[in-house]
Parts: sequence; structure tokens; C-alpha cells
Amino acid sequence: MRVSGDDTALFYPISSGSCGNAVYVRCGETPFLIDCGLPGCRIERALRAIGEDPAGLSFILVTHAHADHTSGIGVMARRYRLPVYASSGTWEWMRRDERLGVIPEECRREFFRDPEIDSLPPSISISAFSTPHDALDSVGYRIAYNGRAAAVATDLGYVSLEVRAALEGADLVLLESNHDVEMLENGHYPEDLKKRVRGNRGHLSNRDAGRLAAELVRKGTTKIYLGHISQDNNTPRLALETVRRELRGAGIDPQTDVRLLLAKRGEPSEACYW
Ligand SMILES: [Zn+2]
Ligand SMILES: [Zn+2]
Repeated sequence: MRVSGDDTALFYPISSGSCGNAVYVRCGETPFLIDCGLPGCRIERALRAIGEDPAGLSFILVTHAHADHTSGIGVMARRYRLPVYASSGTWEWMRRDERLGVIPEECRREFFRDPEIDSLPPSISISAFSTPHDALDSVGYRIAYNGRAAAVATDLGYVSLEVRAALEGADLVLLESNHDVEMLENGHYPEDLKKRVRGNRGHLSNRDAGRLAAELVRKGTTKIYLGHISQDNNTPRLALETVRRELRGAGIDPQTDVRLLLAKRGEPSEACYW
């Protein structure tokens, strides 16, 4: 599938949601993962399914230290000797999480503001932005390659100014569309968990995702994956319908002005060039 000297950029959500998160990104000859909350064998299978080689991975970027984003990191770091980039707060928690197993010392890369990736080609730049979420030092990432950008923004209590600025102008965004507000209210979650999910350090609702999507499309975003969709308080169809409604309300045609995709729970989604 790949040719050498390939300068395409690929975005491939392997799984999204509380059951496990991982996105495969390849910018030209540099392939990497954003989060790895799945068993290593599932990551490998998903990559082989689209003709990509897991042994070619260059590094892993981690958004935050919740198990749905980190559980496979130890295995992948050990198996492929991958550098793992995470904010200092995320490292603080990952070091204590025995479920990850040993992450070899030489694989650890801690950053304070933006990750400084070893021997990254000058055509790629990666920046981190803070996300309001109930994990220490939680971040999202914006990847720029040959004048275009893709970004991952899930696990967000609300859309802060920093998040908005980081996503603006990105060609492709993986955006959280976690719950339907009414399903959450009427659902079976205990009151304190409902409060956590809808709170400022919880997860983004379909409606808020739709409003942000409208702003992003106006500023040039052409591909949006809706992700981190709750199994209990949402359905993929409801997420899509709500976001489409918000787009139409803002004068945007959800069929022609933007490509809306789903980042599925527990299975790979359609890969996209950007
Ligand atoms: Zn999560
Ligand atoms: Zn989380």
C-alpha cells in the first residue's frame, strides 16, 4: 500500500471511547500513535489490516493517565522500544499505575509544554494543549504537516479558549461527542457520576460538540471524526444527528460543507487522508 517517499498524511482511529482509545497517525514516513488504551495485539492487527507495519512505529503520544488511554502503552513500549511522550503530570500517574507494567527508562519522555520529539523531520510539528478534564495535566495534540494540521480533542469538560485556539484551522479534528444530555439525565448513572460526566472536567455533550464543529467548519475544518461516544448515554446515530442539527442551525450543510465521520468504540474506523 505504501510507496517510499510517500508524503501523504494518514489518520486512523483504532478505537475511541471508554473501552479504549488509540489513533494511528502517519505523516509521510513518520508513523506514531496518539494514546494506546488497547492490548498491543489489537493495535498490531488494526495496523496490518490497512497495510501499515507496527514495527515501523516511531513513538507514542499520551493525552492523559486514564486507563482507557494508557493500558497498552507498557506492552507497545517494551515490544518496539518506543519513546513515550507524556506531560509531567501524566507521567506522575503512569509511573504509579502497576497495570501498565514496566515502561523502560530509556522510553520515557516527559514534557512540560510541548513534546520535543527526537529526530522529528522538520516538515512535522507537534504541539500539546491543555484539556479541562479530571486527570492531572491532561492534554490534546495538534499535528502540523506540510502546511496542514490534524488535532485530537477528547475527554473535555468544556471547550476552553485554549482548546478552541488549538483546533482552529485544523483540516481534520477528532472531537469528543460523548453524551446526549437527556440520556445522561434520565439514565441509570448515580447522581455523582452524572455530575462528573457533565461537569467542567468531564466529557463533552453532543450539543457542545456540534456547536464547536460549526465554528471549526467556518474556520476551514473539512473532516471531523466524532469520538469518545458513550455506550450508556449516547448512540453513534444520535451523536451524528445532533451535530448535523447544530451545523444546519449555523447555516452549514452537513453533507457538503464537511465530512462527518465516526470514531467507533472498540473497533477500527475508516482511515482518512488529510
Ligand atoms: Zn477517555
Ligand atoms: Zn479521561
